[in-house]
Amino acid sequence: MKYLLLLAGLLGLAVSAGAVPTVSVQMRAIPATHSFVCRYTITLAADDTATTLALNLGRQLRIENLLSSGNATPRATRVYYPYFGDTLQQVVARFSGRARTVSLTYSGTPEGRLFNEQVMVFSGHSGWLPFRPYREYEEVNYVLEVQAPEGYQVESNSAAVEQRAGRWLFRGRAGAIEITALVARQFQQLASAGAPGIRVVKAGPALARTDTVLLRKAESIIAYYNRSIGQQDPITHFTILLPGTNADAFGMLENATVITYTDFDVAADREALLILAHEISHKWWGYGSVHDYNDWLNEAFATYSSLLYLRESGDEDGYQAELAKRAATVGNAPPIRGFDYRKHPRPMYRRVVYNKGTAVLAALHTRLGTEQFVRLLATVAARHVRSTDELLAVVEQQAGLKTRAWLLAEISR
Ligand SMILES: [Zn+2]
Repeated sequence: MKYLLLLAGLLGLAVSAGAVPTVSVQMRAIPATHSFVCRYTITLAADDTATTLALNLGRQLRIENLLSSGNATPRATRVYYPYFGDTLQQVVARFSGRARTVSLTYSGTPEGRLFNEQVMVFSGHSGWLPFRPYREYEEVNYVLEVQAPEGYQVESNSAAVEQRAGRWLFRGRAGAIEITALVARQFQQLASAGAPGIRVVKAGPALARTDTVLLRKAESIIAYYNRSIGQQDPITHFTILLPGTNADAFGMLENATVITYTDFDVAADREALLILAHEISHKWWGYGSVHDYNDWLNEAFATYSSLLYLRESGDEDGYQAELAKRAATVGNAPPIRGFDYRKHPRPMYRRVVYNKGTAVLAALHTRLGTEQFVRLLATVAARHVRSTDELLAVVEQQAGLKTRAWLLAEISR
């Protein structure tokens, strides 16, 4: 019995390790010209029998070299992609044998808002990595090697596994475009004393009082999530990256979030606290497609998780006010189920996918009560639910047919 279990465990590991593509990224950062050179190699999982592989890449990047394990030479063409508009080129490789590997060498300059005098940001919103069409957030196992000139340091979602002579090596499992490198002359770091190990990594010469407050709040948020939505799949380590480029904030599957705002004070500002809690929760809420209404599985769930934390921290009035603010925008908004963002002006996306989704989750919470609702969220999180149909199946299993029918009606009206 023991042997069988052990074998099953080994097979399970082999299957999960083999089920996603393997990616190797070798990048040389050139801060003097704000540019970089990158060699990106992707190998499809053994059980992936695709005979062609398409990769999208920002059109502003110059492809220097293309290699494929297939017969035909991969070709690069311009491509229109709704999510990013008319900004991409596409490489297509065709395979005949078993090995399905494509290697791409390219160079370029990240967008202006992604670097300043202090830092270069290569991350989820930098457009620096290729990705399979409509799969920018698919998980990949990666090795990242970054080369930076003397006097520079490199930080990523986790600590380097190796560092010597201007080279940093990182390993992990991340969303395809979420492999991250921050390159700067100086970093400051704060770390929590106990478990889970939480780091705040800031580019620049000095820490501020707000950075310590940020670490304490992150500890409090993660402790709450680990006993609620993350109870089946808790956070054991987490990194908050602060590049100081003042562009945006985003959470990633790989236990990390990038917050670029320079005036981010989670003690003084409820909105900042909600952003932090929202982005941390994307560690669990990042498996729905960002190309259709299933994005509510990411954004509404992250938003409602942040409101749950607000309530947990004692701010019941804040919880009610934030909920009411969102509910007030959903009056005549179209149904969540089937919502097509291309048919509506931009602000409708937030009203439907974020706000209406949040209102539906609040109603589900009321219907089930906190204990059952949180248990449901924890199951949805642990199963990496990718579609609304999968969600409905989990709801049926945990809360019954009637609640499934009720939820289906809520997202269909
Ligand atoms: Zn979000």
